[in-house]
Amino acid sequence: MAGFVELDRVSLRYNEEDSALALYQTSFSVEQGEFIAVVGPSGCGKSTLMKVVTGLWPPTAGNVIVGGKPVKGPLSIVGMAFQSSSLLPWRTILSNVMLPLEIVQPYASRLSKDREQFEAKARDLLELVGLKGYEDKYPWQLSGGMQQRTQICRALIHEPSLLMLDEPFGALDMFTREELWLALQDLWLARRPTVILVTHDLREAAFLADRVLVMSARPGRIILDRKVSTARPRKLDSTYEPATVELVHELREHISAARAKAA
Ligand code: ADP
Repeated sequence: MAGFVELDRVSLRYNEEDSALALYQTSFSVEQGEFIAVVGPSGCGKSTLMKVVTGLWPPTAGNVIVGGKPVKGPLSIVGMAFQSSSLLPWRTILSNVMLPLEIVQPYASRLSKDREQFEAKARDLLELVGLKGYEDKYPWQLSGGMQQRTQICRALIHEPSLLMLDEPFGALDMFTREELWLALQDLWLARRPTVILVTHDLREAAFLADRVLVMSARPGRIILDRKVSTARPRKLDSTYEPATVELVHELREHISAARAKAA
């Protein structure tokens, strides 16, 4: 069966004069509803991978297929969240979450008629991540962790089939990050979007993902595609169980070897 996201020997060179490819002959497949984490040293091509999957940058060679269609330009079926908060400070939390509904079709043209129904959807999502009661606050009245929860709700409000997360918890302290892993797992189990998460945190990858892809630089490529078989729903304690500790250790070894080779 073809995957929901399919990369077939994708290479990308940003500039003619670049000696190394940012992405080299990269092939992988992500099933619908699967949760993938991408890890690797800085500069190995993780963001480049995100850009080709979402159609923000065309590959130099190879094919990218999402939802059965070749990717020819920016995709509208994607929800995205990044490390730094991109919430609009003059909008309330509820109104920030509803922003994509003002932009993405078919929601935008239905918004004035169905506002009540859409608002209920936004409130449900906020409740699911523990933000009930904060709907009318402004982003600056919330902690960093709460702002990231809001960002993830905003990324999901238009029910995208693909959720792309680029280091969404990178700037948060460990305890907040762990809380958000649980919130994201709950959201994923409830909605089952296909997720591609870029992270530097190997425990985060092992806790959240069904599969972890390890990338190496110069040229950027996938050097390991590792299944994570821990049963769901996962508990934070599972990250200290031998199978997960071993997995994190294995990922770390591959990344260290890749860094040593690049140096
Ligand atoms: P990562 O996200 O893993 O840190 P990137 O995908 O950002 O890695 O970068 C992969 C390689 O491509 C790096 O060598 C980087 O310098 C280069 N690169 C990234 N973006 C651009 C760009 N817009 N123009 C030219 N080179 C780029």
